[in-house]
Amino acid sequence: MGIQPVSRENEMIQVESLTKQFGTFRAVNGISFNIARGEILGLLGPNGAGKTTTLRMLTGFLKPTSGTIRVAGQPMSDQGLAVKRMMGYLPESAPLYHDLLVFDYLRYVAEIRGLKAGARTERIRRLAEICQINDVMHKPIGVLSKGYKQRVGLAHAMMSDPQILILDEPTSGLDPNQIVEIREIIRQIGREKTVVLSTHILPEAEATCDRILIIHQGAIVADGATDQIKRSAAGGHRIHLSIANADPGAVRSRLATIDGVAEVITEASVNGVLAVVLVCHGEADLRGPVYREVRHTDWDLLEFYQETQTLETIFRKLTRED
Ligand code: ATP
Repeated sequence: MGIQPVSRENEMIQVESLTKQFGTFRAVNGISFNIARGEILGLLGPNGAGKTTTLRMLTGFLKPTSGTIRVAGQPMSDQGLAVKRMMGYLPESAPLYHDLLVFDYLRYVAEIRGLKAGARTERIRRLAEICQINDVMHKPIGVLSKGYKQRVGLAHAMMSDPQILILDEPTSGLDPNQIVEIREIIRQIGREKTVVLSTHILPEAEATCDRILIIHQGAIVADGATDQIKRSAAGGHRIHLSIANADPGAVRSRLATIDGVAEVITEASVNGVLAVVLVCHGEADLRGPVYREVRHTDWDLLEFYQETQTLETIFRKLTRED
């Protein structure tokens, strides 16, 4: 599966042959990908796949062993600090001061981020709205639920209004309601920002991200929108039909003429119903052409469906231990 064709001016982050070696162990193994402006990209992979290591290199916290990262056209290595300023980072377990009230904590973050005194309160008010923490601003962080703590962490990461947000497992340890809430906030933020998040939860990636990179043992094994990944990982898709009142030879020759159909497999059952499988190549949806072809016959179409692989099946197939 190839890298998305993104025009150069639309690329926010360009990663080329990125590698990170810890001693003799290669945690990230020469990965390349681009992230478009305004895209929500999910790094999906099992534990130990190299997601956190990749995110830490993207944020500049970890120096790559080799490879390059460019942010808005600037090489990370030359413009470390300037590039870091464009990013907000929410680490997996964001450190928060539990004794402080949420408002005081965010005011402190605003101060150390160098926001001018007059602008701090307005920025905090805006972040409270975006991250939906208005009702806990005067509570100590220590008493907040994990979901609210995560929202405060998000507000922290967004304090300097960064163009890029890097979120490491933003929903880890949250209950299903909190997951939905954080997901909605991230999607909202993603309307204006470039967001890169990591997760090992499939429905999470599917529901939140515009595009997914599946990472396994430090390498990218799939890259694309979820639909695209499903279609290409399936190695072509299949359409199933049950047809009565038809000659198998006629079915095979007629359906084989449809553009995109690679093979027609027929199996007759005892009751005279023909089970037909169309093996299709390419990514085009052939249900329309198949239906139109059948409509011109006197066959009785009893069943008609397209086989779809779930992202979960694909993920398991791609990330099984060798
Ligand atoms: P998880 O979901 O468990 O956080 P991950 O995909 O984020 O997994 P990483 O944390 O990037 O994975 O780790 C990738 C591999 O690199 C793991 O095998 C991990 O043990 C190893 N690793 C990470 N950091 C270091 C380090 N500082 N020194 C040595 N090995 C490390």
